[in-house]
Amino acid sequence: MTSYVLLGLAALQGANAWGSLGHATVAYVAQNYVTAQTAAWAKGVLNDTSTSYLANIASWADSYRATAAGAWSAPLHFIDAEDNPPTTCDVDFARDCGAAGCSVSAMANYTQRAGDARLSADHVAEAVRFLVHFVGDITQPLHDEALALGGNQIAVKFNGFNDNLHSDWDTFMPEMLVGGSSLADARSWAASLITEIDSGTFKSAKASWIAGDNTGDVVTTATRWATDANAFVCSVVMPNGAAALTAAKDLFPTYYDSVIGTIELQIAKGGFRLANWLNMIFQNEIAKRDSLVQRDLRVVDDSELDGHMFLPAPRPLSKAELARLAVGYECNHKH
Ligand SMILES: [Zn+2]
Repeated sequence: MTSYVLLGLAALQGANAWGSLGHATVAYVAQNYVTAQTAAWAKGVLNDTSTSYLANIASWADSYRATAAGAWSAPLHFIDAEDNPPTTCDVDFARDCGAAGCSVSAMANYTQRAGDARLSADHVAEAVRFLVHFVGDITQPLHDEALALGGNQIAVKFNGFNDNLHSDWDTFMPEMLVGGSSLADARSWAASLITEIDSGTFKSAKASWIAGDNTGDVVTTATRWATDANAFVCSVVMPNGAAALTAAKDLFPTYYDSVIGTIELQIAKGGFRLANWLNMIFQNEIAKRDSLVQRDLRVVDDSELDGHMFLPAPRPLSKAELARLAVGYECNHKH
């Protein structure tokens, strides 16, 4: 009984995650730091060669979970840290990742699937769409917190509106900073964050954002990301407790001023991490596999062409060739 109630409550958490502005900005930042090969791979997987190939799908997971077919995926957008802010903040994967899964277990599942040659193109594309979204979600401190359903039940007033703390962090405070929520707004916010990463406020910290990240040990990596963001629940999100926020006359401007720098940091961090993560998946899985396939093809060509004077120049494999060479079978969709 209790677990059903908890599951039901968990499903309500985080109606929007970072709003579409935050997720698209994470995606644009990531697009700046992926290698040319990773970008080409991702564009092919997503079947989108536009300059918004990651931004266009960054909020797909939020739309999907709002559908009947995608309702199962709602718990994957967060991890419910059962800590005690503002006194103690911590994430414990074994304690906090529910039976229905969480953002950390989802990162592990979809990282594996994004590099799995046995899966259909649709399933690989789905895995990449989930990864682009969940790397962003994990950097939002209230997506790593169980208290009051990640702050969804903390009633506050912001800039004259009655809303809740979670949606202010996801959506309304970022939108106040940027002045809109369109892809163009996200692109311009990303440009300023990229400047901070390359030569400004975040220049010296960026290496620490990805230190130790390992696609071969996703649970450890993603739990570290969640722990990093969860610490801000105690230090920045509610340093004086939730009741103080509800009692505040308006979170704008004093509270907003005290947290907006952390929101910028977390969006920048999410984008930088996402790029590195996709680069690692490409290098460790896709590029390795393609080089093996290429070598095997060359052996076949060599034997077929034995005695001929000219060998064909190496060329990229067609999708049909790759599909033939991959040991193809469809996996059932893993939840
Ligand atoms: Zn989400």
